[in-house]
Amino acid sequence: MSLLSIIIPTYNEESNLEELYARLNDVSAENFHNCELIFVDDGSIDNSFQLIAHFAKQDNRVKYIRFTRNFGHQIAIQAGLEASKGDLVIIMDSDLQNPPEIIPQLINTLITGPWQVVHGKRISRKNESKGKKFTASLFYKLFNSLSDTNIPLDTGDFRIMTKKVVQNINQMEEPNKFLRGQISWLGYLQTTLEYESNDRKSGKSSYTYRKMINLAANGITGFSNFPLKFATYSGLIVSMISFLLIIYVLVAKYILHLTVSGWTSIMTAILFIGGIQLLSIGIIGEYISRINDSTRKRPLYIINESNIG
Ligand code: UDP
Ligand code: MG
Repeated sequence: MSLLSIIIPTYNEESNLEELYARLNDVSAENFHNCELIFVDDGSIDNSFQLIAHFAKQDNRVKYIRFTRNFGHQIAIQAGLEASKGDLVIIMDSDLQNPPEIIPQLINTLITGPWQVVHGKRISRKNESKGKKFTASLFYKLFNSLSDTNIPLDTGDFRIMTKKVVQNINQMEEPNKFLRGQISWLGYLQTTLEYESNDRKSGKSSYTYRKMINLAANGITGFSNFPLKFATYSGLIVSMISFLLIIYVLVAKYILHLTVSGWTSIMTAILFIGGIQLLSIGIIGEYISRINDSTRKRPLYIINESNIG
Protein backbone atom coordinates (compact mmCIF):
# COMPACT_ATOMS: atom_id res chain seq x y z
CA MET A 1 0.00 0.00 0.00
CA SER A 2 1.28 3.46 -0.84
CA LEU A 3 2.67 5.73 1.84
CA LEU A 4 0.76 8.82 2.95
CA SER A 5 2.68 11.77 4.46
CA ILE A 6 0.77 14.28 6.54
CA ILE A 7 2.61 17.55 7.07
CA ILE A 8 1.57 19.54 10.11
CA PRO A 9 3.17 22.96 10.65
CA THR A 10 2.93 23.80 14.34
CA TYR A 11 3.50 27.03 16.19
CA ASN A 12 2.45 27.24 19.83
CA GLU A 13 -0.35 24.71 19.59
CA GLU A 14 0.08 22.83 22.89
CA SER A 15 -3.63 22.98 23.59
CA ASN A 16 -4.60 21.42 20.25
CA LEU A 17 -1.97 18.78 19.61
CA GLU A 18 -3.37 16.01 21.78
CA GLU A 19 -6.80 16.14 20.23
CA LEU A 20 -5.30 16.45 16.76
CA TYR A 21 -3.10 13.41 17.28
CA ALA A 22 -5.96 11.37 18.76
CA ARG A 23 -8.28 12.22 15.88
CA LEU A 24 -5.59 11.50 13.30
CA ASN A 25 -5.03 8.16 14.99
CA ASP A 26 -8.72 7.29 14.80
CA VAL A 27 -9.01 8.27 11.18
CA SER A 28 -5.87 6.46 10.16
CA ALA A 29 -6.84 3.28 12.04
CA GLU A 30 -9.91 2.97 9.83
CA ASN A 31 -8.65 4.32 6.58
CA PHE A 32 -4.93 4.40 5.96
CA HIS A 33 -2.37 2.44 7.88
CA ASN A 34 0.77 3.26 6.04
CA CYS A 35 1.45 6.86 6.93
CA GLU A 36 3.94 9.25 8.46
CA LEU A 37 2.91 12.30 10.48
CA ILE A 38 5.49 15.03 9.98
CA PHE A 39 5.18 17.69 12.65
CA VAL A 40 7.21 20.77 11.85
CA ASP A 41 7.67 22.75 15.03
CA ASP A 42 8.17 26.30 13.84
CA GLY A 43 9.99 27.57 16.91
CA SER A 44 7.14 27.15 19.41
CA ILE A 45 7.77 28.69 22.79
CA ASP A 46 5.16 26.60 24.61
CA ASN A 47 5.16 22.84 25.15
CA SER A 48 4.25 21.89 21.59
CA PHE A 49 7.59 20.26 20.91
CA GLN A 50 7.57 18.23 24.12
CA LEU A 51 4.16 16.87 23.15
CA ILE A 52 5.33 15.98 19.67
CA ALA A 53 8.46 14.28 21.01
CA HIS A 54 6.22 12.35 23.38
CA PHE A 55 4.01 11.14 20.49
CA ALA A 56 7.14 10.15 18.59
CA LYS A 57 8.41 8.03 21.46
CA GLN A 58 5.41 5.73 21.36
CA ASP A 59 4.58 5.90 17.66
CA ASN A 60 7.23 5.50 15.00
CA ARG A 61 4.96 7.02 12.37
CA VAL A 62 5.48 10.38 14.08
CA LYS A 63 8.36 12.35 12.61
CA TYR A 64 9.41 15.78 13.70
CA ILE A 65 11.49 18.67 12.55
CA ARG A 66 12.18 21.35 15.11
CA PHE A 67 13.30 24.76 13.85
CA THR A 68 15.69 26.93 15.82
CA ARG A 69 13.17 29.78 15.79
CA ASN A 70 9.96 30.89 14.13
CA PHE A 71 10.56 30.88 10.38
CA GLY A 72 6.92 31.11 9.32
CA HIS A 73 4.10 28.87 8.21
CA GLN A 74 5.03 28.57 4.53
CA ILE A 75 8.64 27.72 5.33
CA ALA A 76 7.50 25.12 7.87
CA ILE A 77 5.38 23.47 5.20
CA GLN A 78 8.31 23.59 2.78
CA ALA A 79 10.55 21.80 5.30
CA GLY A 80 7.87 19.14 5.67
CA LEU A 81 7.57 18.73 1.90
CA GLU A 82 11.31 18.27 1.58
CA ALA A 83 11.33 15.64 4.33
CA SER A 84 8.26 13.75 3.14
CA LYS A 85 8.64 10.32 1.58
CA GLY A 86 4.98 9.67 0.80
CA ASP A 87 3.44 8.82 -2.55
CA LEU A 88 0.59 11.07 -1.45
CA VAL A 89 1.19 14.14 0.68
CA ILE A 90 -1.30 16.11 2.75
CA ILE A 91 -0.75 19.53 4.29
CA MET A 92 -2.93 20.44 7.26
CA ASP A 93 -3.01 22.99 10.08
CA SER A 94 -2.57 21.85 13.66
CA ASP A 95 -5.36 23.95 15.16
CA LEU A 96 -8.12 21.57 14.01
CA GLN A 97 -9.55 24.06 11.56
CA ASN A 98 -8.85 21.39 8.96
CA PRO A 99 -10.79 18.38 10.28
CA PRO A 100 -8.76 15.13 10.07
CA GLU A 101 -12.00 13.31 9.27
CA ILE A 102 -11.96 14.84 5.76
CA ILE A 103 -8.70 13.10 4.90
CA PRO A 104 -10.29 9.87 3.57
CA GLN A 105 -12.43 11.96 1.20
CA LEU A 106 -9.37 13.88 0.03
CA ILE A 107 -7.54 10.63 -0.67
CA ASN A 108 -10.54 9.16 -2.39
CA THR A 109 -11.09 12.17 -4.64
CA LEU A 110 -7.45 12.13 -5.66
CA ILE A 111 -7.08 8.46 -6.42
CA THR A 112 -10.38 7.99 -8.19
CA GLY A 113 -9.94 10.95 -10.53
CA PRO A 114 -7.37 12.24 -12.97
CA TRP A 115 -6.14 14.75 -10.36
CA GLN A 116 -2.66 15.47 -9.08
CA VAL A 117 -3.89 17.95 -6.47
CA VAL A 118 -7.10 18.20 -4.47
CA HIS A 119 -7.52 21.48 -2.59
CA GLY A 120 -9.70 21.67 0.49
CA LYS A 121 -12.22 24.44 -0.07
CA ARG A 122 -13.87 26.02 2.96
CA ILE A 123 -17.61 26.29 2.52
CA SER A 124 -18.10 28.05 5.79
CA ARG A 125 -15.57 29.85 7.89
CA LYS A 126 -17.35 29.78 11.20
CA ASN A 127 -16.69 32.66 13.51
CA GLU A 128 -13.61 33.84 11.70
CA SER A 129 -13.49 37.57 12.05
CA LYS A 130 -15.24 39.66 9.40
CA GLY A 131 -11.99 41.51 8.85
CA LYS A 132 -10.11 38.31 8.06
CA LYS A 133 -12.78 36.99 5.70
CA PHE A 134 -13.08 40.33 3.92
CA THR A 135 -9.34 40.86 3.47
CA ALA A 136 -8.94 37.24 2.35
CA SER A 137 -11.62 37.50 -0.32
CA LEU A 138 -10.26 40.87 -1.46
CA PHE A 139 -6.81 39.35 -1.74
CA TYR A 140 -7.93 36.34 -3.79
CA LYS A 141 -9.80 38.59 -6.21
CA LEU A 142 -6.80 40.90 -6.53
CA PHE A 143 -4.41 37.99 -6.95
CA ASN A 144 -6.51 36.30 -9.61
CA SER A 145 -7.01 39.52 -11.56
CA LEU A 146 -3.33 40.53 -11.46
CA SER A 147 -1.72 37.21 -12.12
CA ASP A 148 -2.00 34.62 -14.87
CA THR A 149 -2.07 31.94 -12.21
CA ASN A 150 -5.48 31.44 -10.63
CA ILE A 151 -5.91 30.03 -7.18
CA PRO A 152 -9.27 28.54 -6.32
CA LEU A 153 -11.25 30.81 -3.97
CA ASP A 154 -11.41 29.95 -0.28
CA THR A 155 -8.65 27.39 -0.32
CA GLY A 156 -5.91 27.64 2.27
CA ASP A 157 -3.05 25.18 2.45
CA PHE A 158 -5.18 22.14 3.33
CA ARG A 159 -4.72 19.84 0.34
CA ILE A 160 -3.48 16.51 -0.94
CA MET A 161 -0.95 16.12 -3.74
CA THR A 162 0.98 13.41 -5.43
CA LYS A 163 4.69 12.87 -5.00
CA LYS A 164 5.25 14.26 -8.49
CA VAL A 165 3.81 17.64 -7.44
CA VAL A 166 5.86 17.66 -4.24
CA GLN A 167 9.02 17.03 -6.22
CA ASN A 168 8.17 19.91 -8.54
CA ILE A 169 7.58 22.23 -5.59
CA ASN A 170 10.85 21.20 -3.99
CA GLN A 171 12.68 22.24 -7.14
CA MET A 172 11.42 25.82 -6.86
CA GLU A 173 14.14 27.84 -5.23
CA GLU A 174 12.21 31.00 -4.48
CA PRO A 175 12.74 32.05 -0.85
CA ASN A 176 9.49 34.03 -0.60
CA LYS A 177 7.12 31.11 -0.58
CA PHE A 178 3.50 31.30 -1.57
CA LEU A 179 2.76 27.61 -1.88
CA ARG A 180 -0.84 27.78 -3.01
CA GLY A 181 0.26 29.98 -5.91
CA GLN A 182 3.22 27.74 -6.74
CA ILE A 183 0.99 24.67 -6.80
CA SER A 184 -1.56 26.30 -9.09
CA TRP A 185 1.23 27.59 -11.31
CA LEU A 186 2.43 24.01 -11.91
CA GLY A 187 -0.58 23.14 -13.99
CA TYR A 188 -1.74 19.49 -13.93
CA LEU A 189 -5.36 18.63 -13.33
CA GLN A 190 -6.39 20.01 -9.97
CA THR A 191 -9.73 20.09 -8.25
CA THR A 192 -11.32 21.21 -5.00
CA LEU A 193 -13.19 19.33 -2.30
CA GLU A 194 -15.58 21.31 -0.14
CA TYR A 195 -15.41 20.98 3.60
CA GLU A 196 -16.78 22.73 6.61
CA SER A 197 -13.96 24.63 8.27
CA ASN A 198 -14.13 24.59 12.05
CA ASP A 199 -13.19 27.17 14.60
CA ARG A 200 -9.64 27.04 15.80
CA LYS A 201 -10.01 24.62 18.69
CA SER A 202 -8.07 26.60 21.19
CA GLY A 203 -5.45 29.30 21.38
CA LYS A 204 -5.46 32.20 18.99
CA SER A 205 -4.38 32.67 15.40
CA SER A 206 -0.72 33.50 15.09
CA TYR A 207 -1.30 34.89 11.64
CA THR A 208 -1.05 38.53 12.55
CA TYR A 209 -2.04 41.15 10.01
CA ARG A 210 1.66 41.72 9.49
CA LYS A 211 2.22 38.08 8.52
CA MET A 212 -0.88 38.15 6.34
CA ILE A 213 0.26 41.27 4.49
CA ASN A 214 3.66 39.70 3.96
CA LEU A 215 2.11 36.52 2.59
CA ALA A 216 -0.13 38.56 0.31
CA ALA A 217 2.84 40.59 -0.93
CA ASN A 218 4.80 37.39 -1.58
CA GLY A 219 1.84 36.09 -3.54
CA ILE A 220 1.44 39.19 -5.68
CA THR A 221 5.12 39.93 -6.31
CA GLY A 222 5.83 36.26 -6.93
CA PHE A 223 3.14 35.86 -9.53
CA SER A 224 2.60 39.25 -11.14
CA ASN A 225 4.61 42.13 -12.49
CA PHE A 226 1.52 44.24 -12.88
CA PRO A 227 2.29 46.44 -9.84
CA LEU A 228 5.60 47.39 -11.46
CA LYS A 229 3.81 48.27 -14.65
CA PHE A 230 1.24 50.17 -12.63
CA ALA A 231 4.08 52.41 -11.43
CA THR A 232 5.04 53.07 -15.04
CA TYR A 233 1.47 53.64 -16.25
CA SER A 234 0.51 55.94 -13.43
CA GLY A 235 3.76 57.83 -13.94
CA LEU A 236 2.93 58.19 -17.61
CA ILE A 237 -0.58 59.42 -17.00
CA VAL A 238 0.49 61.89 -14.35
CA SER A 239 3.24 63.22 -16.64
CA MET A 240 0.74 63.75 -19.43
CA ILE A 241 -1.61 65.62 -17.15
CA SER A 242 1.30 67.70 -15.86
CA PHE A 243 2.36 68.52 -19.41
CA LEU A 244 -1.11 69.83 -20.21
CA LEU A 245 -1.09 71.81 -16.99
CA ILE A 246 2.25 73.38 -17.91
CA ILE A 247 0.79 74.55 -21.20
CA TYR A 248 -2.17 75.99 -19.32
CA VAL A 249 0.12 77.75 -16.86
CA LEU A 250 2.14 79.34 -19.65
CA VAL A 251 -0.96 80.41 -21.54
CA ALA A 252 -2.42 81.81 -18.35
CA LYS A 253 0.67 83.82 -17.64
CA TYR A 254 1.70 85.17 -21.07
CA ILE A 255 -1.53 85.29 -23.03
CA LEU A 256 -4.38 85.56 -20.60
CA HIS A 257 -2.29 87.55 -18.11
CA LEU A 258 -4.05 85.90 -15.22
CA THR A 259 -2.35 86.46 -11.97
CA VAL A 260 -2.18 83.10 -10.34
CA SER A 261 -3.32 82.98 -6.77
CA GLY A 262 -3.36 79.17 -6.80
CA TRP A 263 -2.24 77.78 -3.43
CA THR A 264 -4.89 75.10 -3.75
CA SER A 265 -3.82 73.97 -7.19
CA ILE A 266 -0.14 73.89 -6.25
CA MET A 267 -0.80 71.91 -3.11
CA THR A 268 -3.01 69.47 -4.98
CA ALA A 269 -0.41 68.94 -7.66
CA ILE A 270 2.44 68.48 -5.19
CA LEU A 271 0.52 66.06 -3.01
CA PHE A 272 -0.76 64.09 -5.97
CA ILE A 273 2.56 63.74 -7.72
CA GLY A 274 4.35 63.12 -4.42
CA GLY A 275 1.88 60.37 -3.56
CA ILE A 276 2.26 58.64 -6.89
CA GLN A 277 6.04 58.85 -6.64
CA LEU A 278 6.17 57.38 -3.17
CA LEU A 279 3.77 54.62 -4.15
CA SER A 280 5.85 53.76 -7.20
CA ILE A 281 9.07 53.73 -5.23
CA GLY A 282 7.40 51.56 -2.62
CA ILE A 283 6.30 49.06 -5.24
CA ILE A 284 9.78 48.91 -6.69
CA GLY A 285 11.12 48.48 -3.16
CA GLU A 286 8.87 45.45 -2.58
CA TYR A 287 10.34 43.74 -5.61
CA ILE A 288 13.90 44.75 -4.85
CA SER A 289 13.69 43.46 -1.29
CA ARG A 290 12.66 40.10 -2.70
CA ILE A 291 15.46 40.12 -5.25
CA ASN A 292 17.75 40.88 -2.35
CA ASP A 293 16.37 37.89 -0.42
CA SER A 294 17.06 35.58 -3.31
CA THR A 295 20.59 36.79 -3.98
CA ARG A 296 21.70 35.98 -0.43
CA LYS A 297 21.02 32.29 -0.94
CA ARG A 298 20.62 31.61 2.73
CA PRO A 299 19.03 28.34 3.68
CA LEU A 300 15.29 28.80 4.18
CA TYR A 301 15.32 27.38 7.69
CA ILE A 302 17.61 25.94 10.32
CA ILE A 303 16.79 22.64 11.97
CA ASN A 304 17.46 22.32 15.67
CA GLU A 305 16.61 18.64 15.94
CA SER A 306 14.76 16.03 13.96
CA ASN A 307 14.12 12.30 14.02
CA ILE A 308 14.06 12.01 10.25
CA GLY A 309 17.12 10.14 8.99
N1 UDP B 1 1.90 28.34 11.99
C1 UDP B 1 3.28 28.12 11.83
N2 UDP B 1 4.13 29.18 11.90
C2 UDP B 1 3.69 30.46 12.10
C3 UDP B 1 2.30 30.69 12.20
C4 UDP B 1 1.44 29.61 12.13
O1 UDP B 1 3.71 26.99 11.67
O2 UDP B 1 4.52 31.37 12.15
C5 UDP B 1 0.98 27.19 11.91
C6 UDP B 1 -0.06 27.13 13.04
O3 UDP B 1 0.40 26.35 14.12
C7 UDP B 1 -1.24 26.46 12.34
C8 UDP B 1 -1.12 26.95 10.89
O4 UDP B 1 0.23 27.36 10.74
O5 UDP B 1 -1.11 25.06 12.33
C9 UDP B 1 -2.08 28.08 10.59
O6 UDP B 1 -1.86 29.15 11.50
P1 UDP B 1 -3.04 29.96 12.18
O7 UDP B 1 -4.10 29.03 12.65
O8 UDP B 1 -2.41 30.85 13.21
O9 UDP B 1 -3.56 30.84 10.98
P2 UDP B 1 -5.08 31.05 10.48
O10 UDP B 1 -5.73 29.70 10.49
O11 UDP B 1 -5.69 31.97 11.47
O12 UDP B 1 -4.93 31.62 9.12
MG1 MG C 1 -5.88 28.48 12.05
